[in-house]
Amino acid sequence: MNFALGAAVLCLVGTLAWITWQRRLARRWLDRLVHSVRRYARGEDRRLAVDAPPPELESLSLALDDLVRALGEEASGMRSELRLEQEMVRQTPNGLVLVDAEGRVRMVNPAARVLLPVRGDPTGRPPIDAIPLAELQDVIDECREKNAIAERSVVYGPRDLVVRGLPLDGGRAALGVVLDITTVRAAERARRDFVSNVSHELRTPITTIVGFAEALGDEPLPESSRPMVEAIQRNARRLHALVDDVLHLSRIESRGEDLACEVQPLRPLVDEVVQRIGPRAEARRQSLVVDGPDLEASINADAFVHALGNLVDNAVKYTPEGGHVAVRLATAGHGVEVSVIDDGPGIDPVHHPRLFERFYRVDPGRSRDVGGTGLGLALVKHLCQAMRAEVSVKSAPGEGSCFVIRLRP
Ligand code: ADP
Repeated sequence: MNFALGAAVLCLVGTLAWITWQRRLARRWLDRLVHSVRRYARGEDRRLAVDAPPPELESLSLALDDLVRALGEEASGMRSELRLEQEMVRQTPNGLVLVDAEGRVRMVNPAARVLLPVRGDPTGRPPIDAIPLAELQDVIDECREKNAIAERSVVYGPRDLVVRGLPLDGGRAALGVVLDITTVRAAERARRDFVSNVSHELRTPITTIVGFAEALGDEPLPESSRPMVEAIQRNARRLHALVDDVLHLSRIESRGEDLACEVQPLRPLVDEVVQRIGPRAEARRQSLVVDGPDLEASINADAFVHALGNLVDNAVKYTPEGGHVAVRLATAGHGVEVSVIDDGPGIDPVHHPRLFERFYRVDPGRSRDVGGTGLGLALVKHLCQAMRAEVSVKSAPGEGSCFVIRLRP
């Protein structure tokens, strides 16, 4: 009996000792694992360096191995992606200036150092301090304030630059992008000069042809020659109008964006246009009226008269005999709208987006018949832009047309 009790106690003590030893083994392994995880987290080790686990922790060990392998693969993928992106930022010919949420420069790429006056190490300084170009600071401020893209054109040294601010992180941070458009501008200038020179050269001989063709028309001619002389007169006049419009367009373009504008009453200028075109409307038995109050707006008188003249001229040209044309003055918000309204054939909305392009015609045959050059509306658009005004069209087939110039107050 005593022997049986002794054996049982011995067995119990043995079991307790074995459990304690096993727990100690597991604890030691877990301590080594924790140490290894910490080294991994600090980046001192690329794998979990622990030896074989006690059997009951084997599945934990396998799961941890899988996790570490997956993390390692993801990290290496991210590292190579980051390397590519950094390479891209270094190689791009566009200048990049990254500004953080504190409004300080975080990164400037090599192209920005070539295009902009970067002073020393720009990191951590406000843009204007690191890169003294007011337009860059302006676009960064504007795009962070409005959370929208901002843009300025700048001539810096021999270069024509476009400086653009792109909002990042909901407008807290921003990316300044600098594009070098020197060669594009030079090509544009060369094209403009060429067109302008050719038009100048053509002007004198065409004026001579127009003059002689008119004189010839006054001579007593054999009946068979008359249609030929009339065709020469018609085409010479068209050529003359075309050269004039091309010259005018290239002159507006080379003058740049802005024309000198001043606030002045519009009615006398509208009346001047209507009086000039009135006889043509009368010849077509059309009514041509002005309505609305005399309003003031910021305009360049010559540009306004030219633009409005083209719109009224088109309305009279394209509206059939006996139709109605009106010029209406009205306030709209803080600005003023001058509308030219006719009850002519109207224009299908599919044409509206391209209507103000050079040589875009809805009906080329009709345009030529009425002596159109295809440049009238392109001129109107450029003249309006130069006055910082806008032109738009509302029209549909059978419903007439309404061209609206929206002027600044
Ligand atoms: P064009 O010299 O041919 O008149 P524009 O640039 O002035 O050139 O006009 C472009 C085209 O728009 C015209 O060819 C014509 O088809 C159309 N258009 C312009 N104004 C009107 C209008 N008031 N009514 C109908 N069509 C018009």
